[in-house]
Amino acid sequence: MAYIETYYKRSMTEAKVRPALTGVVECDTVIIGGGLAGLTTALELARAGISVVVLEAEQIGFGASGRNGGIVSPSFACGEDAIARRVGPQAAKALHRLTIEGVDRVRATIDDLGIEGAAPCPGLLSLRRFDRADDMLAHAALFAGEYGYEMAYLDREALRAVLKTDRYFHGLRDNRAFHMHPLNYLRGIADEVERLGGRIFEGSRAVSQNLGVVKAIGTARGRVAARRAVFAAGGYADGLQPRLQRGVLPIATYMMISEPAPDLIGSVIRTREAMLDDRRASDYYRVVDGGSRLLWGGRITTRTASETAVAAELRREMVGTYPQLAGLKTDLAWSGLMGYARHQMPQIGQLQDGVWHCTAFGGHGLNTTAIGAKVLAEAMLGQSDRIKMFAPFGLVWAGGPFGMAAAQLTYWSLQAQDWWRERRG
Ligand SMILES: Cc1cc2nc3c(=O)[nH]c(=O)nc-3n(C[C@H](O)[C@H](O)[C@H](O)COP(=O)(O)OP(=O)(O)OC[C@H]3O[C@@H](n4cnc5c(N)ncnc54)[C@H](O)[C@@H]3O)c2cc1C
Repeated sequence: MAYIETYYKRSMTEAKVRPALTGVVECDTVIIGGGLAGLTTALELARAGISVVVLEAEQIGFGASGRNGGIVSPSFACGEDAIARRVGPQAAKALHRLTIEGVDRVRATIDDLGIEGAAPCPGLLSLRRFDRADDMLAHAALFAGEYGYEMAYLDREALRAVLKTDRYFHGLRDNRAFHMHPLNYLRGIADEVERLGGRIFEGSRAVSQNLGVVKAIGTARGRVAARRAVFAAGGYADGLQPRLQRGVLPIATYMMISEPAPDLIGSVIRTREAMLDDRRASDYYRVVDGGSRLLWGGRITTRTASETAVAAELRREMVGTYPQLAGLKTDLAWSGLMGYARHQMPQIGQLQDGVWHCTAFGGHGLNTTAIGAKVLAEAMLGQSDRIKMFAPFGLVWAGGPFGMAAAQLTYWSLQAQDWWRERRG
């Protein structure tokens, strides 16, 4: 299957096609899944001289990693309070530090590998849609004090100088966060894995496994025999590894890209930073293509919804925020699947001797796959036991169809809470 049509596919800087696996190939570590989790793990291992093979069912970046919002910022999909409730405040802070390390690692990878097509652009504005700032200011002060992570407060007037809307009351500017072209970034990593001797096979869905002393992973036309295996199939996992399948729910989310209209867009959004409102069920957007198009994302569903219908909802949100954009046409809309565990934290660990997993990054995977891959590789190479920080977030049953229903209800309830917070102020 080819890439689905997305803005990223259309603006991909190179279109190298990789072969499907045929015959028997041997290596140290076979990785199942050619998204950010799988390929960043491959990169970390290949840098240490380990021979790796990556099996991707479709094409590199076919999944969430090639379709996402491109915003690289600290934190996990799970809120900090929930993490602290599970592991205590000190462990929660250590985990949060990892997410900042993840942001810095992505930036360093772009720089080190010279991935020009990733086009990183600094800045993220977190936006508040009701008039209360005390908790926002406290959050910024905590981040500065605890992590040395500075964010600047913007009042309504300062926000209006860059965003021509009445919707936002308060904002935080994070200059260490950035946004980028995720598919070009991922393809840059794939090139580097190959340059270091790793092999990547596309159109090579893993369909069978024998996880004895030798890990044998079969595809339609070939087989990889390895000492170790890593499962990293995210929200696209297809049941090959039942324990992982039980622990991860595929949740759909949506994006759209506008037609080119640089003057109109530039008249209402006068910044190249990314924007993210701080509702529990938030929307995010950014100007791309040298300022000519607007990329807008949001909404989640547990059943695959029609992209056209969800794009209409996203448009309603966009026009509600910027009535001036009522005439801006949507060029394209698409969806992607995120993998979510019930605890909303990544699942990184060991299933059995020589069998590892790196998955469930949810809607916050750009920084967290970088650090997830790093701590996994450190564990596999015997360099550190930082992977243990993820042990409290194990492979719990995500609830199957009941979990899907619960996730949808939770989202609707978050939307209702957002609505109430905005009305109440
Ligand atoms: C629309 C959207 C917007 C998002 N926006 C952001 C954002 O702005 N910032 C952020 O931090 N995060 C964002 N995310 C989340 C982020 O994209 C994901 O958390 C991250 O990309 C997950 O990476 P992954 O490698 O685990 O999964 P994926 O990228 O989904 O990769 C899994 C791969 O495994 C392959 N696969 C599955 N089964 C097999 C098999 N049996 N054999 C071989 N291959 C297999 C699939 O084809 C797929 O390519 C967004 C996600 C979506 C969908």
